[in-house]
Amino acid sequence: MLKITTKHRKTNFLTPSGLRCLANFPTVNVSAGCAHNCVYCYTKGYSVYPGDGSIEVYENMAIRIASEIKQKRKKPAAVYFCPSCDPFQPIPQIQQITFDVMKTLLENGIGVQFVTKGKIPEEILGLFARYSSQIAGQIGLISVDDEILSVIEPAAAKARQRLNQLERLIEIGVKMSARCDPLIYGITDEDKQLHSLFSAIAKTGCEESAVSFLFLRPAITSSLKKNLGQTTALNKILSPFSEGISLPIGLKNSTGLALPLDIRKSSFERIKKIANDYDIRIHICGCKNRDITNKNCYITREQKIQDKLLPYPNSY
Ligand code: SF4
Repeated sequence: MLKITTKHRKTNFLTPSGLRCLANFPTVNVSAGCAHNCVYCYTKGYSVYPGDGSIEVYENMAIRIASEIKQKRKKPAAVYFCPSCDPFQPIPQIQQITFDVMKTLLENGIGVQFVTKGKIPEEILGLFARYSSQIAGQIGLISVDDEILSVIEPAAAKARQRLNQLERLIEIGVKMSARCDPLIYGITDEDKQLHSLFSAIAKTGCEESAVSFLFLRPAITSSLKKNLGQTTALNKILSPFSEGISLPIGLKNSTGLALPLDIRKSSFERIKKIANDYDIRIHICGCKNRDITNKNCYITREQKIQDKLLPYPNSY
C-alpha cells in the first residue's frame, strides 16, 4: 500500500542537475519517491528518498513554477522531467501535477523533455500533440517480457503499452528514442531477448536507443537482495560484479560499481550489431561508461527557445 503525503514547498522547484548529461536545462521532480518501485532504482540511496512505498507530492508545484518562470530574466529552452522519479506514475494526483506543470511550461514557450516507463495519460498525449515541436522524450524499456518486467519494474507500464506510446508519440511528431537502461547482464541481454526488444522498438518507427548496464551502489544492492531474495536470478545478477570496477556515474564525486570493462565492451558491440539488424542507432550512456565513451546518450536534446506563446485551447 502506497503512502502519499502532500506538502507545500517554499523553495524553487526548477533546479539544475548535478548530472553532466542534464546540465543544459533545469530539471523538476514531480514527487519525492516513485511509485514504479523499480528494484534497481538509483534514487533509493538519495538523502531525499522517502523510503519504499512512500511518495511525497507538492500541492503548490504548478503555481510556484509559473512564478519562478516569471522571475527568470532568461527563460530556459526546456525543462527535464524527472531526474529522481517518473513523471507518469499511476497516481492521479501526480498525473495532474505533471499535466499542470508541463502545460504551464509549454504555454510559456518552454520545451518539455522527459523519460518514462509509465502509462502516459490521454490528456498529456493531447497536450503533446499540440506542442509536439517543443517536446522530446525517451521511453524506458529493457525487455519486452512482461514476466521479467513485473519483477524488476513492478508498477511500471506493460511493455506493449510503452511501445504503443512510443509509436503514438513519434506519429504526432515528438522527437523520441528508446532507453534500454539498465540492461541486466545475463537476465535481459541474451541475443534472443535483444532481437525481440529491438525488433519491437523498430516497429514503432523509433530509430535510436540509449543503452547502458546496471551499476551497483549499496542501496541498489540492498534493494535487489530484498526484492529478489536468495534466488538464482540474484546470484546471476550480482556475481559478475565481483570483478566489477568503480566508475564515476555522472554525478559530482559519485561513483558506482560497474560491470568489468571487457564484459561491457563486448556486450555493447553485440548490442550494436543486433540493433543494426533493425536499423536502430545505439548511443551508449557516456556518463556511466566513461572508460568506453564520453558521448551523449541523448537523454536531452538540443532545444531552441520558442518566441511564440501557444495558448492551450480550453476546449481540449
Ligand atoms: S521509474 Fe525511474 S525513478 Fe521510478 S522507480 Fe523506476 S528507476 Fe526509479
